[in-house]
Amino acid sequence: MKKHNFSAGPSILSEYTIKNTADAILNFANTGLSLLEVSHRGKEFVAVMDEAQQLVKELLDVPEGYHVLYLGGGASLQFCMAPYNLLRSKAGYLDTGTWAANAIKEARLFGEVEVLASSKEANYTYYPKGYEVPEDLDYFHITTNNTIYGTELRTDPDVKVPLIADMSSDIFSRPVDVSKYDLIYAGAQKNLGPAGATLVIVKEDALGKVDRQIPTMLDYRTHIKKGSMFNTPPVLPVFSSLQTLRYYKELGGVKEMEKRDLAKAALLYDAIDSSKMFVGTVTDPDSRSIMNVTFVMTPEYKELEKDFVDFCAARGIVGIKGHRSVGGFRASLYNALPIESVQALVDAMKEFEKAH
Ligand code: PMP
Repeated sequence: MKKHNFSAGPSILSEYTIKNTADAILNFANTGLSLLEVSHRGKEFVAVMDEAQQLVKELLDVPEGYHVLYLGGGASLQFCMAPYNLLRSKAGYLDTGTWAANAIKEARLFGEVEVLASSKEANYTYYPKGYEVPEDLDYFHITTNNTIYGTELRTDPDVKVPLIADMSSDIFSRPVDVSKYDLIYAGAQKNLGPAGATLVIVKEDALGKVDRQIPTMLDYRTHIKKGSMFNTPPVLPVFSSLQTLRYYKELGGVKEMEKRDLAKAALLYDAIDSSKMFVGTVTDPDSRSIMNVTFVMTPEYKELEKDFVDFCAARGIVGIKGHRSVGGFRASLYNALPIESVQALVDAMKEFEKAH
C-alpha cells in the first residue's frame, strides 16, 4: 500500500502522473520505444512539450505576451537568471527564508539589492507585511511560499514595479493574477512533477532591457525562440508534469485545488491548535502556509519528537521530520496528497498525545 507521503520535495505525485509516466517509460505514445530513448525532436515529444506549455497557460489563465518554458538547473538557477536578464540597477527583495536569501545573494552579483523586509530575526516565523516598495526598482522579488519555514503569501501584491515570484512550493495551489508578474518560476518537484525541470512563465516585453551580455543558455530569449527546445529539455520531468497538468484540469483546475488544499490545511492546523503537545511554529496566523505545515512539541514533551516520528512511520506516515534548520515537524500537503493522509496524521497525533 502507498505510504502517506508528507515529503517537502521531491514529494508526492498523483497516481495518475506516476502510472502514466511508468507506462510511457515502457512504451511512449505507441512508438514501441521508451520515453527514455526517443528523440526530443520527434513529433510525439514535441506534442508533449506543446501541451505542457499550453495547459499551464490555460490553468493559470496566462495572458497574451507571456511564454511558458521548462528549463534545467532547478529553481536555484532562476535565482541567477532572473537578475541576469532583468536587473539593470536596483531590485527589491523580501527576505522570507533560506531560498529567498539565496535569491538575494545571487542578485547582488548583478546590481544593487534592497531588502525591503525580512523576518530573519524571528527565524522566519512570519511573512512580512506593511513594507514600502519604492517605485525606482527594476523589479520586486518575492518567494510566495517558504518551504522550510511554513509561511506563505496567498495574494498577488499590488505594487507599481514589475513583480518576480519564486512559486516553487505553491504554484497551482490557487489562481494567480499572472498579469502582475514579469516572471514566475517554480521547480517542478513539488506540485508538478519529478525534479529536473523548472517551470518559467516570463513576459516577453520585460526582456532585452539590460545592457550586459547574457550567455546564450542563460538568456530567456534563447529558450523562447526555440520553444523551450534550444537544448535537450528534461524530457521525463516534462512528460510527468504534463500528466499532472492534465490531472489538475480534469479535477476542475486550480480553484478546485485551492479548495482541497484549504480543507487539508484547516484539518491539520485545527489539530495542532487544539493539542497540548504540539504547537505551530508560525506565529502570525495569516502567514501560515497551506502547503508546508511546520510544528514542534511543547518544551514539556520535546524529548518525544523522535518517538513521534517513529510512531508515525509505523503507521505508514513518512516525510514529517522538520528541516534541519527548524527542527520539529513539517507536513507538506501538496496538491497530490489526499485528505485521508492528513486525517491519518491527525489521528496519529491524537493517539500519541493520549498515550503520553
Ligand atoms: N525555492 C523554493 C521555495 C524551494 O522550496 C526550493 C527547493 N526546495 C528552491 C527554491 C530550490 O529549488 P531547486 O532545488 O530546484 O534549485
